[in-house]
Amino acid sequence: AEAFNANVAGAKALNAFIVETPEHALAAAKQADADRAAGTLKPLSGVPIGMKDLFATNGVQTTAASHMLEGFVPRYESTVSQKLWDAGAGMLGKLNLDQFAMGSSNETSYFGNVISPWRRKDGGPNLKEGAALAPGGSSGGSSAAIAARLCPAATGTDTGGSIRQPAAFTGISGIKPTYGRCSRWGIVAFASSLDQAGPMARDVRDCAIMLQNMAGFDAKDATSLDLPVPDWEAALSGDLKGKKVGIPREYRLDGIDPDIDAMWDAGIAMLKDAGAEVVEISLPHTKYALPAYYIIAPAEASSNLARYDGVRYGLRDLPQGAGLQDMYAATRAEGFGPEVKRRIMIGTYVLSAGFYDAYYTQAQKVRALISRDFTAAFETCDVILAPTAPSAAFGLGEKTADPLAMYLNDVFAVPASLAGLPAMSVPAALNREELPLGLQIIGKAFDEQGVLNAGLAIE
Ligand code: GLN
Repeated sequence: AEAFNANVAGAKALNAFIVETPEHALAAAKQADADRAAGTLKPLSGVPIGMKDLFATNGVQTTAASHMLEGFVPRYESTVSQKLWDAGAGMLGKLNLDQFAMGSSNETSYFGNVISPWRRKDGGPNLKEGAALAPGGSSGGSSAAIAARLCPAATGTDTGGSIRQPAAFTGISGIKPTYGRCSRWGIVAFASSLDQAGPMARDVRDCAIMLQNMAGFDAKDATSLDLPVPDWEAALSGDLKGKKVGIPREYRLDGIDPDIDAMWDAGIAMLKDAGAEVVEISLPHTKYALPAYYIIAPAEASSNLARYDGVRYGLRDLPQGAGLQDMYAATRAEGFGPEVKRRIMIGTYVLSAGFYDAYYTQAQKVRALISRDFTAAFETCDVILAPTAPSAAFGLGEKTADPLAMYLNDVFAVPASLAGLPAMSVPAALNREELPLGLQIIGKAFDEQGVLNAGLAIE
């Protein structure tokens, strides 16, 4: 009992869950027993998963890790979560994240940061001050919970790396499918032209099984892909004979951590062993992806977040004797955290009449060029291999004072987001501090299979 209680306390110390819903998982487990007896087991019968708290869950608080939505209990279910329940899964709870999914370390959450279960080699086994590491973000609750074995799988969302980077930081797998594969209906919107849901799990096969049960056309999402969902798990194969893997020259950044380069080279060797041919490719506009992303994503966010007005959802701050405008101002001042306010201000600025063409239009042009780079590259290769992030997990607090340093961590993740392509992170190596590093596989639109298969060859 003592060991059990210590484990529970340890698990809680990670702060991975905002709300726990054991009754939901238990009901699914009981249903699984009944289904087994009746011979009607479903693909995920009884599997207890974690749900990123960006997905609306009927009757269960949904906050996007913001004060603005604290106490908000939706009366509807997101399409993706509903599909998972229909497949038999149960929910252990709502997972912590960066506030409105804005961040790369889970430190912008109103409910406090998540702690990665990993420690640097010299960091000691306990949560020593300064030794705790970020689980990545924004899906940091999802990554930490899976890495700590609190749940076998979880949902994530990826606008500019939020599935892949936390997966890399915690030694797990995660895939962002092609934009439009998973319905955005019922997911708190950040940047609608980029937002995409996907699974995070311990390995590639589990990701394939989860994705199978999350994807599919949904008439309620205007950008949903009207395509059949392939049986990705059945076609999983680590045999890459006849496949070409592209290595983008522009991702070899000067001065990058030598452990990252070594991992990349080891990954290339693994794919060759699996039968693939490796070719060098060029994605010439790569260096403009990060600045374009940090214009487009805040622009869309500033528009999407206009709905939090103190009238329709969650928080309302109505000072004594105040009018409507004062209520808007007071509610938004109190409800949004500093990073969210920064994005709203950047977004509003780049969309304003005097600056629209110089920033927003320009960023959209860059986005088109980045897409074209990928289209051209995929004429000579089937998948692209690159690091997921330029470093291993950094320490909590290490980058919070410098937003630009935080944004730079997304440098390898955002190009695939801007192009809407499927991309996955798989654990590939440990660095000198014995921390996990992830490799990213980027695929052609709709070719999740190619991505998963290359991932399988690496993990
Ligand atoms: N780190 C990126 C950002 O802060 C990506 C976040 C995401 O994918 N949700 O915008």
